[in-house]
Amino acid sequence: MRFIVLHAPAGEDACCLRLFCPALREADVLEVEDVGDTVLIAARTVAAKASCPECGLPSARVHSRYRRTVWDLATCGRPVKVELEVRRFFCGEPSCDREIFAEQVDGLTQRHARRSNALRALLTSIAIALAGRAGARMAGLVGAPVSRSTLLRILRALPDPR
Ligand SMILES: [Zn+2]
Repeated sequence: MRFIVLHAPAGEDACCLRLFCPALREADVLEVEDVGDTVLIAARTVAAKASCPECGLPSARVHSRYRRTVWDLATCGRPVKVELEVRRFFCGEPSCDREIFAEQVDGLTQRHARRSNALRALLTSIAIALAGRAGARMAGLVGAPVSRSTLLRILRALPDPR
């Protein structure tokens, strides 16, 4: 089943998707598709500028666009896959080492991460409480299916407690 989200009649702020996926407030939702056991959301970033992660200078000079996939928290028990069109920007600071950088969406994307911040936080909590096999079972029940080795990798990546 495929349907287009209509912003116009309800107004963009009233779009229920923004309630379910708050991180998408900063993006333009193009389409929502029901693909059986997953909800697929196509979106693109709309902010006029992005800040260079190296020097912090905002830039509006777009270099290119590309698609990335980010998994977000499940909605009504179904995993949410966001196909997000993001941009690379030129950094305008001559002394900056970074000539080109990719924009990030607050709460949704992080460099190289394939899961949203909220989903990562959920899986981290499950990994700490239940670790491997039991954790993987619990994650599957809450619509965030991962393998037990992924949960163990999340645990190993945590900083050591003081
Ligand atoms: Zn820079």
